[in-house]
Amino acid sequence: MIKLSELYSGKAKTVYRTDDPEKLIMKFRDSLTAFDGKKKSEAPKKGYYNAQIAAKLLSLLEEKGIKTHFDSMISDTEMVVDAVDIIKIEVIVRNIAAGSLVKKYPFKTGQKLDPPILVFDYKSDEHGDPMINDDIAIALGLATKDELLKIRKLALSINSILLDHLADKNLLLPDFKLEFGRRKGKILLADEISCDTCRFWDKKTGESLDKDVFRFDKGDLVSAYREVARRIVPEIFEK
Ligand code: UDP
Repeated sequence: MIKLSELYSGKAKTVYRTDDPEKLIMKFRDSLTAFDGKKKSEAPKKGYYNAQIAAKLLSLLEEKGIKTHFDSMISDTEMVVDAVDIIKIEVIVRNIAAGSLVKKYPFKTGQKLDPPILVFDYKSDEHGDPMINDDIAIALGLATKDELLKIRKLALSINSILLDHLADKNLLLPDFKLEFGRRKGKILLADEISCDTCRFWDKKTGESLDKDVFRFDKGDLVSAYREVARRIVPEIFEK
């Protein structure tokens, strides 16, 4: 496969066209931003750890029957993915109250949410990613009623698989963000699952091992991401 021109560059990843029109290459970079891009930084090896964590978790989901855009890794930080039409909804799954949920509503940080809470945000920097409901998503033409139902079911199945998998790695999963895409009439899980898009807390200490370390200056980001990689992809440390 040949990497061609850049298609899109986001806050932490760059997407390239390839000689196969059905495939793209997604490169995980060391840059990171928070608070709508107001806080920016670089962290060496952050792209590597996120790419390895995402590859492992997307493969795990595929093994469990969830269709994803993941194809293969072509380097330590570059993933071949199926080209999809991205649905502009950020699907947030919450198992434990944290972050914006606690800011906006009378939940307490650390409060268990059982059953999990699903939140849909409109993926639009211009509008500040506002929370939407099914009616708004349908009226904006973001997705059909049937697609929203499928996305909801997929998000909850993905959550169960991830919770099961992380339980014996001493990692809590308070919340995470998913994105879905359409390909040949089917809904696929797209984007990434990594320390940039999930909250991971150490089960014993409650310590944040995710982007909150950067958002709130809680310590060394790369050490936190490395620790998650050590638990989720231990094989990369055996090389
Ligand atoms: N999240 C994300 N991208 C976004 C917004 C949220 O990956 O644009 C993730 C975030 O890392 C967290 C979860 O979604 O794991 C819930 O985020 P929340 O709504 O609490 O917002 P935040 O506290 O990150 O501002």
